[in-house]
Amino acid sequence: MIRIAILGATGSIGHSTLDVIARNAEQYEVFAVSGYQRLTELLEICKKFQPKLAAVPEKEAIKFQKQLLAAGCKTQVVAGKEGLQILASTPEVDLVVAAIVGAAGLLPTLAAVKAGKRILLANKEALVMSGALFMDAVKTHQAVLLPIDSEHNAIFQCLPADFAKRSFAEQGIEKLLLTASGGPFRGWSKEALQAVTPAQAVAHPNWSMGQKISVDSATLMNKGLELIEACWLFNVQPQQIEVVVHPQSIIHSMVSYRDGSVLAQLGNPDMRTPIAHALAWPKRIPAGVNPLNLIASAALTFEQPDEAAFPCLKLARQAFEAGGTAPALLNAANEVAVAAFLEDRIRFTEIPQVISQVLDLSSIHAANDLEFLLSEDQRANQLAVSIIQKLH
Ligand code: NDP
Ligand code: MG
Repeated sequence: MIRIAILGATGSIGHSTLDVIARNAEQYEVFAVSGYQRLTELLEICKKFQPKLAAVPEKEAIKFQKQLLAAGCKTQVVAGKEGLQILASTPEVDLVVAAIVGAAGLLPTLAAVKAGKRILLANKEALVMSGALFMDAVKTHQAVLLPIDSEHNAIFQCLPADFAKRSFAEQGIEKLLLTASGGPFRGWSKEALQAVTPAQAVAHPNWSMGQKISVDSATLMNKGLELIEACWLFNVQPQQIEVVVHPQSIIHSMVSYRDGSVLAQLGNPDMRTPIAHALAWPKRIPAGVNPLNLIASAALTFEQPDEAAFPCLKLARQAFEAGGTAPALLNAANEVAVAAFLEDRIRFTEIPQVISQVLDLSSIHAANDLEFLLSEDQRANQLAVSIIQKLH
């Protein structure tokens, strides 16, 4: 039995993970789960999976423990940020699914890294914020990092099994082709994007996801964050990554080799595939995903991203190139701007404006100290809030 902790069990990735586990219940046990606001949902999860631990915010802990008892669950509640760290590092857990959204996922994911766990990484923001520190900790603590972001999982599947042991040049790898759906506003002009509503932005054409990543997909910041994520995971530079818009989301990314071979991973757009892949790796288990019907898919098309209408991709590339704290500032500003857009406080097209102002008004420092990085995250947060206040 492999015992699993799911950080962010109540979210979209959390649900897909629980679904795959339920289909393979003879091999996997849900040992611990966390929720934040959707605690009615978390209670249902506890009733169904009977985990040993559940992490909830401090102020909800006593009430939630009572609800669990009333429902006949023996699950023990752990509270607040500390509770999340306990979940991620408790010795009984073999595997941690890092599926909390945003910067809030950084400390619990790092706790799992420091405990040397096998980690299924969905939370890209943690890696974007603290790339060098994070990857150093993975090495030091011999954690096993498996990407479940679909693009990175696809690249992982298309690389040689021992890709990390030698340079890409030695392995004849020329570049990574990171595919992007283009989001709901692909082909829209800058002018048309001014009037976009939150409801339109979260309605992704191919994927069903949480609100924040749905907006990130619409602005192309998701691809920007993924570019940075790929640089850290696969130890490459942005010039070795080409972003290709592929609206059907059937090819999830590719690796291009020196001899002209391009290896791709294909499948229906369903996160249960990368989750099942990483859960069982190097074995394969059923994921509940429909087989790919290529005849029905008919056409697979490709185009260049429109970086003028969607400046977030370029902002992310520039932040990675600037290095140090720049990606953490980009991430913090984006989180604040996306939240403001979802609350109808700024326009869609103001999201990149807020981010670039935060970067312009900040000095970039080395990012080799976690405390400092977290304080810079908070500072950029405050700066973004004040920029938004001035905008309106
Ligand atoms: P959701 O918004 O659906 O879920 C987010 C999860 O994080 C929920 O369990 C939520 O709890 C929890 N959470 C939110 N804020 C906090 C906080 N401050 N402290 C603790 N827990 C918190 O997001 P997704 O599942 O879509 O995405 C999760 C992560 O995975 C993101 O980083 C995203 O970029 C990445 N990802 C997602 C993909 C997808 O297809 N959805 C694909 C690839 C990557 P609650 O719901 O109870 O409030
Ligand atoms: Mg992705």
